Amino acid sequence: MMQNGPICLYCERDSDQVPLLALKYQDVDFWICPQHLPILIHKPAQLADKLPGAEFLSSSDVHVHNHD
Ligand SMILES: [Zn+2]
Repeated sequence: MMQNGPICLYCERDSDQVPLLALKYQDVDFWICPQHLPILIHKPAQLADKLPGAEFLSSSDVHVHNHD
């Protein structure tokens, strides 16, 4: 089955097309390509539908300017 190989969790390209970096989140292995690693670092909320709970990652170490 071709779907069993690692693919970037964002763009879903496989390691034939891009280098893939392994990561682990909530005891599940994920893969991401270097092009989309910055999204995980800076905009994890964009990955919330791929990584359940990722929208909360930004609250701890990203300084959001939301002065009301
Ligand atoms: Zn990617």
